[in-house]
Amino acid sequence: MSKLLIVGTVAFDAIETPFGKTDKILGGAGTYIGLSASQFNVDSAVVSVVGDDFPQEYLDLLTKNNINIEGIEVVPGGKTFFWSGRYHNDLNSRDTLDTQLNVLADFKPVVPTEYKDAEIVMLGNLHPLVQLSVLEQLESPKLAILDTMNFWMDNALEDLMEVISKVDVITINDEEARQLSGEYSLAKAAKKIATMGPKYVVIKKGEHGALLFHEEQVFFAPALPLEEIFDPTGAGDTFAGGFAGYIAKTGDISFENMKNAIIYGSNLASFCVEKFGTERMVELSGEEVDSRLEEFKKLTQFEIALT
Ligand code: AMP
Repeated sequence: MSKLLIVGTVAFDAIETPFGKTDKILGGAGTYIGLSASQFNVDSAVVSVVGDDFPQEYLDLLTKNNINIEGIEVVPGGKTFFWSGRYHNDLNSRDTLDTQLNVLADFKPVVPTEYKDAEIVMLGNLHPLVQLSVLEQLESPKLAILDTMNFWMDNALEDLMEVISKVDVITINDEEARQLSGEYSLAKAAKKIATMGPKYVVIKKGEHGALLFHEEQVFFAPALPLEEIFDPTGAGDTFAGGFAGYIAKTGDISFENMKNAIIYGSNLASFCVEKFGTERMVELSGEEVDSRLEEFKKLTQFEIALT
């Protein structure tokens, strides 16, 4: 089993979906990644920053899920990162209503000494300079995985390109892959992104699954057709957390193993969307995860006679 270091926002989110609206609730890329990866019982730590308006019970929730929070700085008098979004009726697209960086604006991350030798690092969504600084503090990670979003392409592209050039895997959604590459075809987009640095390109397509590209190889995993989707917030991060958590648990960074990591990521993301915010992830049991994996197998397995 490998150590997993995670960096990402630990945040307040306010969400509107066609089914309802929440006030400030627990969110953030680092939170979702950590909760998802905790399903694999790996030794993980989150590096992030919050203000002193952040409830202790949220930090306790992370600790309770075996996530080391030594690297989460609490800034006295500071305000926690806040994001608010509204989903369209298709639940696949959303508008960002507000992004308040607050304490994230001046954040200088410090990787806890115990995690400087982490083999797997998951650079979750936040400022690319923070992601870069975390990467530079690590001794020699076996696999660096990066997740990002259009906000950073629009606001810090040069820094983002630098971090992209230094990672092994990038996970990105289809719209963002098109924006980053300037290509409409996802196959062409993946090829172009691979020339920027990452040897493995994972393109997330929401309810339409995910694609993994590596050199001339491609793998596709569907998303489960769910009856209940309440809130897609955090699905991308939960996917990334499942991917990174599985790789950390197995310690195997081959393309073949990454296929399984994609399935685990999709499986966990399918739970995340069933309730608002982190609600579903914190109550999730190992039995539920396993039984849904069976459904995934049934969904994709078939016998066919070639004539
Ligand atoms: P996802 O739905 O997986 O794309 O991630 C949603 C999470 O990302 C929310 O919980 C937000 O707090 C967080 N988030 C939104 N915008 C940003 C941003 N610009 N940087 C970092 N995290 C963000």
